[in-house]
Amino acid sequence: MEDCIFCGLASGRIECAKVYEDDKAIAFRDINPQAPVHILIVPKKHLVKLHDAKDPLLLGGLMEIASKLAVGEGIAETGYRVVINTGRDAGQSVEHLHVHLLGGRNMKWPPG
Ligand code: 5GP
Ligand code: ZN
Repeated sequence: MEDCIFCGLASGRIECAKVYEDDKAIAFRDINPQAPVHILIVPKKHLVKLHDAKDPLLLGGLMEIASKLAVGEGIAETGYRVVINTGRDAGQSVEHLHVHLLGGRNMKWPPG
């Protein structure tokens, strides 16, 4: 989608601190990190909400990327959080499905 920021990042049209890429997904560091490690894993296909993604292989792939990045970033042992904000009440601010990988600090529960 032309006016979607994450489509722009996924296509390389907009620059980002990329940490992973394959044919279906890209991962890059969040521009406004909420933890020492804050990476976004983004499908290249423009999907808005989690429930728009009907493809279990795609969704599983995003989770696998998150877990491998957690190991690579050195946060697997200390712990990390994987979050998908979907819709207004969850605070989704970018209307293109993305998975947050957060780690490197102690986190509270429940989220605010
Ligand atoms: P949401 O609030 O939708 O769950 O998360 C959107 C995330 O995208 C936010 O954490 C925000 O900082 C990040 N973000 C928004 N625009 C950009 C950008 O242009 N580049 C990068 N790297 N991250 C972005
Ligand atoms: Zn998009």
